[in-house]
Amino acid sequence: MIRGSSSLLKVEFWEAISIKTWKPKMKVHLHFFSFGKRYTNIIQTKLRHNHILNYDLCKRNILNSLECSCGKQENAYHFFFVCTNYSIPRNTLFDCLFKLELVNIDINLLLCGDVINNRIIAAVNKFIDESCRFS
Ligand SMILES: [Zn+2]
Repeated sequence: MIRGSSSLLKVEFWEAISIKTWKPKMKVHLHFFSFGKRYTNIIQTKLRHNHILNYDLCKRNILNSLECSCGKQENAYHFFFVCTNYSIPRNTLFDCLFKLELVNIDINLLLCGDVINNRIIAAVNKFIDESCRFS
């Protein structure tokens, strides 16, 4: 596996010493990413791999501007935590995450989940859908 292909995957996946130890960990991990709507899962995967927002596309010379429609640099952090275009779906997302009593909500948690993945992934998928950024 190429380590640089997903810098957000948890360290435990990279530290597996063989396919035999890696595969069961990855199987659990992949189960949660197949939760929900396929289209939204694809968007979430592209966000996790930095392959969809204007900053990502500008770095790859696909777009000329790295700016969001709000005028700021559009990366995953901006999309999930900052952009005023998505304030309403963000409130719903964080209400849901706060009900899960999560602490240290960061981009890694939103895109890679945690032990209670289904509810996190469901909340993130809902945010992605309600943002209408990718429709
Ligand atoms: Zn923005």
